[in-house]
Parts: sequence; structure tokens; C-alpha cells
Amino acid sequence: MTTRNHCLERDAQDPLASLRDQFDLPAGVIYLDGNSLGARPKAALTRAQQVIAQEWGHDLIRSWNAAGWFELPRRLGNLLAPLIGAAEDEVVVTDTTSVNLFKALAAALQMQADEPASAGRRVIVTERSNFPTDIYMAQGLAGWLDRGYTLRLIDSPEELPGAIDADTAIVMLTHVNYRSGYQYDMAATSALAHDHGALIVWDLAHSAGAVPVDLHAGGADLAVGCTYKYLNGGPGAPAFIWVPKRHQPQFRQPLSGWWGHAAPFAMAPDFRPADGIARALCGTQPIVSLALVECGLNVHHQTSMQAIRAKSLALTDLFIELVEQRCAAHPLGLVTPRAHAQRGSHVSFTHPHGYAVMQALIARGVIGDYREPAIMRFGFTPLYTSHTDVWDAVEILRDILDRQDYNIDAKRDAVT
Ligand SMILES: *Cc1c(COP(=O)(O)O)cnc(C)c1O
Repeated sequence: MTTRNHCLERDAQDPLASLRDQFDLPAGVIYLDGNSLGARPKAALTRAQQVIAQEWGHDLIRSWNAAGWFELPRRLGNLLAPLIGAAEDEVVVTDTTSVNLFKALAAALQMQADEPASAGRRVIVTERSNFPTDIYMAQGLAGWLDRGYTLRLIDSPEELPGAIDADTAIVMLTHVNYRSGYQYDMAATSALAHDHGALIVWDLAHSAGAVPVDLHAGGADLAVGCTYKYLNGGPGAPAFIWVPKRHQPQFRQPLSGWWGHAAPFAMAPDFRPADGIARALCGTQPIVSLALVECGLNVHHQTSMQAIRAKSLALTDLFIELVEQRCAAHPLGLVTPRAHAQRGSHVSFTHPHGYAVMQALIARGVIGDYREPAIMRFGFTPLYTSHTDVWDAVEILRDILDRQDYNIDAKRDAVT
């Protein structure tokens, strides 16, 4: 049986252990919600002061050039690219995941419409359990275009092969499911879409910085993702969009703002898309927030996705093992796949009073989150979570459950 001492030993041998010191985590907190809002890199405070006091305060408008503000979406995209198997000049950090998904879907529909053999395809296949904004954005786009596009929602990954057919324009999937933690086999799934003539758009919100991703080897057509989760970019930090070189000439998106123009400062009356990835941009970026994304990416560049994955699997395995051993008397149901290849970096358990139990955990300093229906979600961030954190979190969970120390009438917050 695993003991707390075993966890201490594993921490002593953990090659990533020293990276925790680069994050500012409050004392007395075990933070298991880095899958929703990553912790703050210590460097972000210094960087924010520099951007606000020096670049904005002192250098003023000169900073668009002198401090590289104008280049920032592309420079950060190149810094992020190796984490997701993207090449140079294929990624920009910009806008929100929702907005980037809109651009990606619109561009993919247009690519299909431009292809005589595919022009009649009208279906976007996705999952009912996808993160709702992804479904909403696809519904919004389909409705707005008013050309007969519809969504086909599958209820489990097993239904996917039967759902893709000659009508399918796009398969739009989230690589790691936000609720269950299920991870798709990207290469096999992309191949399935392509076999039927569909394009595949991947959402990497719960993958980027959490699990190894190789967009090129994985056969992806377009991808979007988030920087404020496992990439520790800060609350509401701009998201990213990936357009591989092979699709860039055909990539046309309707949010044709001046940052995506071939010559933004020519101030010409007609839109002409920039060559390359800049055509995925729209308008002026929130520079203060965007600048902080670099601090999280810099921590990632001190290790590798392979090392992060090895520790992530060790932490999620440990958590599952300890919960199942030490909380065996309680009605907890594992939602996350046990197979490593199908698991992201968070673990979800159902409990009939999941919301109340999670509130009790948070009150005791173990911060995870709750997702309908009855799911307690625990994110494991190898950059700053230790094996001992996992042990201590499970002990607090066990104590709460054993003593039924939770309030089943707890009032729900708007954001949980
Ligand atoms: C977190 C998340 C988002 C967030 O989208 P925003 O536009 O940043 O609010 C979108 N999709 C998925 C799959 C997510 O997990």
C-alpha cells in the first residue's frame, strides 16, 4: 500500500520538482484546478510591472515597435508551437478560444465549399459532451450562414465512425474532454475524418501544455486552444489558433480586421489578407494580458512535454489509486478512463453530493471544481503539483466523506 512517505520519496526523485518554485501558490492551498485557471508564474508580476510602468507608462505608443507589441501574437505563437507539434509561423496567440474556433470553422467550411467535390457537404460533427461554447459557436456560425449547415452530435467517442459520412464537412472535436478527461487518438481520428473527405478541427484547450500533442503527425487541419489553463497565461489570457502552412493560402476567415490585412498601415479601403498566419488575426490585442502569456511558456521551455506527461500520468494514477483505496466506503465513481492513452491530465469522480463535497474541499484548501452532473474534477499540473499534494488532498477528501462534513444545501455560486 502506498504511504505518505512513498509520496515524499517520489517527490525527492521528481525531475520537475524544482519548477514549483517558479509559481506563486498561496500557503495552505493544494491547487488542483490548473486545468481551469493555471497558477501564476512568479515572473508574471515583474513582467506586468514592466509592461505597465515602462512600456506603456514611459515609452507610450513607441512600444508598438520598440517593445515588439505588434509582433507579440506571432512571437508568442512561435514560442508555443513546439508544445503542440506546430512549425514556425503557424500559430498566433490572439482573441479567445471561442472566437478562434469561429474563425477556424468558418475557414474550414469555406475550404470545403471551394472544393467542387466537397461543396455540398453540410454537416459539422461534434460531441454533445463537448465544452458548450464550442457547440454554441458552431451553431451560431451555421445559423448565421443560413446555407443549410447543421450539427450532428454524438453521445460517445464510439459513435464517431458511424457519424461521419459523405455529408460531413467538418469534424470538430476537443482532444481532451473538459469533463471526463477522455483523450482522443488524434492521428486515428483525423485519418477517419479524412477517409470520408471531411476536415478536422481540434480544440486543444485541455491539451496544450498538459499532454504531448503533435498536430502535424496527428493529421490535424486546424486547431485552437487556450493559454490560461495548463499554459498559465493568466485569467482571460488570449487563446491561440494554428493554421498549418499547407492550408494558409486557402484559409479565409470572416473576421477580417486590420491586423489580418496584408498591409495594415496602408489604411487601404479594401481588405486583402496577409500572407501566412497573420491572416488569422483580427484587431488590436490586449497587450497587458498577452504579454504575460510568455511567462507561462518560459516555464514550459525549461522541461519537455514528455517529462510533463510522465509526471502527469504518475499523479493521476496515484490519485485514482488512493481515492479508490482510502475512500472505498463512499459512492465515488471514476469517470476518467484508466487507459493512459485515453487520459488527459485531470481526473473526474462522480459523487451524489459532488457539489457540496467540492465546496467542503475548497473550504479546507483543496481547490478542484465541480461540473454538472455530479462531477468533481481534479486537475494535475506537473509543473507545480507534488505527489505529496495528491496524498494530502485524498486524506482531506476521505476525512470530509467519513465525517459527512459537507452541506448538501450549499448555495451555488454563479461561477464554480
Ligand atoms: C476552456 C475551454 C474553452 C474556453 O473558451 P473561451 O472562449 O476562452 O471562454 C473553449 N473550449 C474548450 C473545449 C475549453 O475547455
